[in-house]
Amino acid sequence: MDPRFHVKPISATFEPQRLIWMAMHQDYYEGTVADTEAPPENEAGELVVKHLLLGGRGHYGPLEHPAISFAVAGFPHSVVQQARTHRVGISFDVQSMRYTGKRVAAVATGKLGVEDVFYFRAVGNYADRFGKKYAYSKQMRETDLQVAKQMSTIYGYKLQEGFAEEHARGMLPFDYRQNFVLTFNLRSAMHFLDLRSKLDAQSEIIDLCNLMVPVLQQWAPEVINWYIEKRLGRARLSP
Ligand SMILES: Cc1cc2nc3c(=O)[nH]c(=O)nc-3n(C[C@H](O)[C@H](O)[C@H](O)COP(=O)(O)OP(=O)(O)OC[C@H]3O[C@@H](n4cnc5c(N)ncnc54)[C@H](O)[C@@H]3O)c2cc1C
Repeated sequence: MDPRFHVKPISATFEPQRLIWMAMHQDYYEGTVADTEAPPENEAGELVVKHLLLGGRGHYGPLEHPAISFAVAGFPHSVVQQARTHRVGISFDVQSMRYTGKRVAAVATGKLGVEDVFYFRAVGNYADRFGKKYAYSKQMRETDLQVAKQMSTIYGYKLQEGFAEEHARGMLPFDYRQNFVLTFNLRSAMHFLDLRSKLDAQSEIIDLCNLMVPVLQQWAPEVINWYIEKRLGRARLSP
């Protein structure tokens, strides 16, 4: 995985599985759960799995209450573009390259390396979506890095000439790195993993999923262990 890919949790609902249990309990409880003590977190998680998820029950609603936010850094623009197609239960704030562009200009002056700002796959053997194989050689990659540097120089020049960032960015290599904040509820996080960790997704967004999973697992262990066992990577898509 690219060493500049980072995923860090910055906020998360405390004891998320107790909250899910409370929401679930309210569905069939005559009183108000405001007066109810939820079971301890791990036990609540087991009950949630048993009553809402096991056997393909599909009662996902209560899982929409707890939320988690990630600071995501260093991922290429293509991942941002793909991630943002998900509209429900997920919020994004992304460096748009209208207000940020200094790092590109810093490539031109040599203050930052090309790869600090632009993403290129590692040298190696790859296949397209149809399985057709090809090689990405060291020499090709070097050429790509040089072109990215040249484009950064033109970008820096345009900013000096007073161009707006949104205008100057037009000729940059497509996969400039962007940082973003990403918030899910537990249901939407699993939906995202359903669609973006499957094998025909682009490898870089699979990397994002792979960095998210251990954090989610630590946060809501019983639910995510069920998810890993039953759904992760199996392309079992929700409608
Ligand atoms: C491998 C892969 C390749 C892709 N390639 C392309 C591509 O080339 N071009 C492209 O444009 N997109 C592409 N997509 C994006 C895809 O078409 C969906 O737009 C994207 O995955 C959002 O999915 P979603 O609707 O499930 O997510 P969300 O928007 O998060 O929605 C979650 C769920 O809410 C419900 N929902 C949301 N909106 C509606 C609605 N308007 N009406 C009814 N129900 C709704 C559905 O049940 C949906 O599953 C690709 C996705 C994948 C996984």
